[in-house]
Amino acid sequence: MNVLIHTCCAPCLLYPTQILQEQNVGFTCYFYNPNIHPYREFRSRLNSFIDLAEQRNFKVIIDRDYGIGQYLRSVAFRESQRCRVCYETRLKRTAQLARDNNFTHFTTTLMFSIHQNHDLIQSTGHHYAKREGVSFYYQDFRDGWEQAGKEATELNLYQQKYCGCIFSEQERYDNRLKKRLKKKRDNHV
Ligand code: SF4
Repeated sequence: MNVLIHTCCAPCLLYPTQILQEQNVGFTCYFYNPNIHPYREFRSRLNSFIDLAEQRNFKVIIDRDYGIGQYLRSVAFRESQRCRVCYETRLKRTAQLARDNNFTHFTTTLMFSIHQNHDLIQSTGHHYAKREGVSFYYQDFRDGWEQAGKEATELNLYQQKYCGCIFSEQERYDNRLKKRLKKKRDNHV
C-alpha cells in the first residue's frame, strides 16, 4: 500500500500518520486547501505543515496556491452547501493526483476532525475512488482526537480557531450570527 494523504493542517496530520506508521504503510502528505482564508491564515497553516513534515521527514506534495477565487466561485449561490462542495473539491483533486502518480490509495485528515461531517467525507471519498479508479483508505481517525490534541499543544503547533473559509470565520466570531444559527437548528429539532 502507498497512500496519498490529503492534509488540511499540521495538528490533524499527527494521528493519521501515526496510524499509517503503526501499520507499516508508506504515505505522502498532500497540502491542498483553497478554502483557508484570509491569506495570512493560509500561510500560518501551510508553514506549520511544512515545519512538522520536515521534523518528521514526511514526503510531501504542496499546492501553494491560495485559491480563494476558485473556492468562492465554487460555492457562490449555494453557500448552505459549501462544506459538501469543499470536500468534493479537495477529495476529487487528491484522487486524481493519487491515480496519476501510482498511489494505491488516497485518504484525508478531514476524517480526524470531530467538527466535520464525517459520513459525508467518507461517502465523498468512496465516490471519487470509484470515479478515478484508485482506492479510498477509510479509517475513523476521530478516535485519536484527544490524544493528538495534547500532542499538538506539546509540540507548539499552530492551532487554528476556525475551520478555514471566510464563512466559518464569521460563524466563530460573530455572536449575533451564532445565536441566529442556534435558533435555526433548535427549530429543526
Ligand atoms: S466550514 Fe470548513 S469544510 Fe465547510 S466550507 Fe468552510 S472551510 Fe470548507
